[in-house]
Amino acid sequence: MASSQTITSRLAPTPSGYLHMGNLYNFALTWLHTRMGNGRLLLRIDDLDQTRVRDQYIDDIFHTLEWMGLEYEEGPSGTGDFKTQYSQTLRIDQYRETVHLIRNNAETFYCLCSRKELERLSPDRFYQGTCRYRKLTFDNGQTALRLVTDEQSMISISEENEEAQQQNIHQLMPFPVLVKKDNVPSYQVASLTDDLNMKVNLLVRGKDLWTSSLAQAYLARIIQLDPFEKVNFLHHDLISGNDHLKLSKSQHAPSYRKTHASKKYLFSMVARSMNIMEQPESLENLLEAVKNSR
Ligand SMILES: [Zn+2]
Repeated sequence: MASSQTITSRLAPTPSGYLHMGNLYNFALTWLHTRMGNGRLLLRIDDLDQTRVRDQYIDDIFHTLEWMGLEYEEGPSGTGDFKTQYSQTLRIDQYRETVHLIRNNAETFYCLCSRKELERLSPDRFYQGTCRYRKLTFDNGQTALRLVTDEQSMISISEENEEAQQQNIHQLMPFPVLVKKDNVPSYQVASLTDDLNMKVNLLVRGKDLWTSSLAQAYLARIIQLDPFEKVNFLHHDLISGNDHLKLSKSQHAPSYRKTHASKKYLFSMVARSMNIMEQPESLENLLEAVKNSR
């Protein structure tokens, strides 16, 4: 990344469950890489999927950041502030505009397939484009809008400290959903729109979201917004639980509070991922240890 460019990164938790160690690990790593570059850190809370959002989960995010001693430059100061000023539901028109731009530049189609149908056709939920030629029209609550991705074009993902990786999106996500059946734009659309509008240029996320990064870079290219090509990515390893499963809310990872993990444990885990054997007690100590190791 050019040194003249200020780093802007973001924390973007989804308030659909209590945070687990994997989330905290991501927060600490994001904070660290932003501070190492003297960048700007935003807090964004991805609440567009309102069916799973609960106030106590939003509260948990603020309590956790306070417990970690993690400060950010922009974003909501608490749950009330978030709901009235920062909720993604307030930006739904921006997301619809992105969908509109994509539709002007690429082939899309409505898909009627139910979740059950998708699982029956393809147990790994790799959608084969069944509805592509059915010429279905919008039916509120029944149809999702999907994009036909290009089978040829390669997308490049710039990884921090590594060579850029090229991949074709069609092989991994041939027909991504742009608008869900409830007529709300998808995660990919909302996340890309926010990252572009908020001028985010460093994205720190788990390796499980690599395909999402690819999809978002692809969408950005369709709407000819090249700033996204300048985004630097850092896809980190996922933290293993006792059962060696990656920690995600869908797998019911326990809240970090239930595991009684200490801050020292958390920050040491981040340090170890960077081959630093110190056991920092705070984020500031962690930053110091990283700086001293270079
Ligand atoms: Zn379908």
